[in-house]
Amino acid sequence: MNLCERIKAIVGANGWIDAAELRQRPVDFWNATPTHALGLARPASTEALSALLALCNEARQPLIIEGGRTNLVSATLGDAQTLLVSLERLNAIGRPDAGAMTLEVGAGAVLEHVQQVCAAADLRFGLDFGARGSASIGGALSTNAGGFQALRYGVARDQVLGLECVLADGTVLSHLSSYAKDNTGYDLKHLFIGSEGTLGVITKAVLKLQPKPTSCHTALLAFASFEQVIATLTALRRSLNGTLSAFELMWQEFFQFNVDALLQGRAPLDASYPYYALCEVEGFAGEHDGEHFQTLISDLFDSGSVVDAVIANSERQRAELWRIREEFEDEIQLFSTLIDFDVSLPLPRIEHFADQVREALALQFPENLGLHVLAHLGDGNVHVTTGLPSAARKDDLKRCVYRIIAELGGSISAEHGIGLAKKAYLHYSRSPGELALMRTLKGALDPHNILNPGKVIDAATPN
Ligand SMILES: Cc1cc2nc3c(=O)[nH]c(=O)nc-3n(C[C@H](O)[C@H](O)[C@H](O)COP(=O)(O)OP(=O)(O)OC[C@H]3O[C@@H](n4cnc5c(N)ncnc54)[C@H](O)[C@@H]3O)c2cc1C
Repeated sequence: MNLCERIKAIVGANGWIDAAELRQRPVDFWNATPTHALGLARPASTEALSALLALCNEARQPLIIEGGRTNLVSATLGDAQTLLVSLERLNAIGRPDAGAMTLEVGAGAVLEHVQQVCAAADLRFGLDFGARGSASIGGALSTNAGGFQALRYGVARDQVLGLECVLADGTVLSHLSSYAKDNTGYDLKHLFIGSEGTLGVITKAVLKLQPKPTSCHTALLAFASFEQVIATLTALRRSLNGTLSAFELMWQEFFQFNVDALLQGRAPLDASYPYYALCEVEGFAGEHDGEHFQTLISDLFDSGSVVDAVIANSERQRAELWRIREEFEDEIQLFSTLIDFDVSLPLPRIEHFADQVREALALQFPENLGLHVLAHLGDGNVHVTTGLPSAARKDDLKRCVYRIIAELGGSISAEHGIGLAKKAYLHYSRSPGELALMRTLKGALDPHNILNPGKVIDAATPN
């Protein structure tokens, strides 16, 4: 039997899609070109995945684990010789434990389904982002995803108690602990979380849940200066007793662009301002939460921290405000060669960073098609999007922005990971010593370099 036949024998006929059929589907969410691969295996159990990995390790067969393929860094891009492995059949969602506030899920479970199961039990899994309808739990953990509620609940890493993983040689590491305190040596789960499928395969996780809030209030606040933005964030954090769930900052150019594109210029506020923040508070005290939020906003208004505001008075109005923040289809049309940055910085340096990028673009890339800046401000995560008329100077522009990030002590990837797209720039955020340790870890856990080879970092020595 050849390798594909041996793989088919492990995953069954339903678990195999051949190369010709795969060419009918796009590579991923962003890349519409056909998928080229040896084939796609869909194991239905941890045991089948373990046998599959052992076989591939023995045959030195490179493979890429797939979740929903919504990553933004070409992390699941392969070639015709690479085997794709999808965990979509490992998608069981257990029953939430209301007492322990935990939930065991298969790595192939879709984030939105997990959110729905939790909500039905008056609980919440505190991870949320635009790709919720396709992204898998395995993908979210492997990229250590962030999103809108990281301000309140932390990133993916903060919301996992236990993990089951399979190593490159097929060894199953099952540590599905459901308790918060577990100081039994190295915390191995954190090796796999955020490693983008290069160190092992996540098959199951025990997620940490939160009580589901009973009220939600949303406001759009406007500011004349960045100092006002910081003062408001600080005041809201202090006064809202941990119930602030989102503080999404939008610089004027992006805000105005989306208002024009989506709402035909029907701006939620009458005047124009340098900064807008979409704030959401989700509490447990019903009407009282709304009154408290309104009082806080009028106090901020009186103290001069907020210069204009609108509070959503219906679900429709809330959805409209979120559309301004979330939609980006028109942006893709605007920036013909779209270049986007997902970076982190210390909070006090964010304004300076945005100003420096603006200056550098004006001076060195005057042909740029505009600059849109957004931030999940509470966690220091800034999204910058720009575009050039052609791709010729794309890499120069990337280097220019990453240099600014390095000088300001930031991270070149806040929440999207490294994949292939950012691999060449990793040294802007990681020291030679750190890069060497990453190579050592890759070599130790995947000595034949079969797991997502070429992504994040190259192995120390080819085998
Ligand atoms: C519209 C949109 C909005 C987004 N917003 C955000 C956001 O706000 N915050 C954010 O952090 N991200 C965001 N993303 C990026 C993306 O959704 C996340 O990176 C998501 O976590 C990827 O999940 P996935 O299942 O699609 O993984 P994939 O894209 O399939 O895979 C991502 C990486 O994880 C690896 N992998 C997948 N499953 C496993 C597994 N079980 N074990 C080991 N490795 C595995 C893959 O090999 C790959 O390296 C957004 C994407 C889109 C399209």
